[in-house]
Amino acid sequence: MKLLVLLFPLLLIPAAVSQVPAQQNLPTRAQVAQVVQKVCRGSEITSGEEFDTFRRAVQKLAPVLNQDRQHVTYIALADNNEINAWALNFDMTNSMICVPVAMVHFMGDAEGELGFIIAHEVGHTVDDQCKTQQGRMQAGGSSAGLSAILGGALGGGQGAAAASRAPQQRACEARADEIGFKMFTEAGYSAYAAAGAFGRLEMYMGDTSTGLFARLNALGSDHPMTPDRIKHMRSLLINYAQQNSLTQ
Ligand SMILES: [Zn+2]
Repeated sequence: MKLLVLLFPLLLIPAAVSQVPAQQNLPTRAQVAQVVQKVCRGSEITSGEEFDTFRRAVQKLAPVLNQDRQHVTYIALADNNEINAWALNFDMTNSMICVPVAMVHFMGDAEGELGFIIAHEVGHTVDDQCKTQQGRMQAGGSSAGLSAILGGALGGGQGAAAASRAPQQRACEARADEIGFKMFTEAGYSAYAAAGAFGRLEMYMGDTSTGLFARLNALGSDHPMTPDRIKHMRSLLINYAQQNSLTQ
C-alpha cells in the first residue's frame, strides 16, 4: 500500500513513495481537504497533540502497510466527534480512512489500541473481495437467507434488507479484523492491544450480551461489537499465542 497520509504537510515514507512512478495527477492540497471534509465529515487535522499520537501509530504501521504495493490509501485525522473510524474505497485501488479526533481521545494513551483501530480500517481497504457485491455475497456465505427471514419477522421490510446484509457485513468485519490483526502484530504492537480496543468499545457501546438479538440490535453501527466478532478475535489471539510459544 502506498500511504498518502501526511503527504501534506510531509511525506511520511519518502523511500517507498520514490519507488512509485511519478504520478501526473496527484491531487492538490485543496482537493484533498475537500475530499477529507466530505468523506470524514470534518476538516483534516494536521498538527497538535492528537495528530502526534495519530502519526506515531501510522508510522509504526507504515513499514508493514507499505509491503502492499497495490493499494493507495490516504489516512486522515478528522475534526469529528464520532467515536468511530471508517474507510471508503473509491475504487479497487484508492481508499480513504477517516479517524475522528474523538476516537484518538477515546483511546487515550493506548497507542496500540488506536493502532489496531487503524489497522482494522486498513483491512477494509486492502480486502478486494469485500469491495464488490459479489465478493461480499461469497464472504457472507449461506446464512444470509435465514437472517433475512428473521430480520423480516422482527423489523419489517427494512429489517429484512438490513438483516440480509448482516452476514456479509459480519464476514467483512471479521476479515478486516483478521487482516488488521496480522498487520498490527507484525508492526510490533502487543497482540492484546486488539483485545483492549475491543473491550474499550464494548464498554462504550454497552453490547456485552450474546445471541441473535445482540447481533440485530448492533446492525445500525458501522462496527458492531458482536459476540461473533469477539469470539473470532479470541481465536486470533489464541492462535497467535500458540504460534509464538512454538517459535520461541
Ligand atoms: Zn470495520
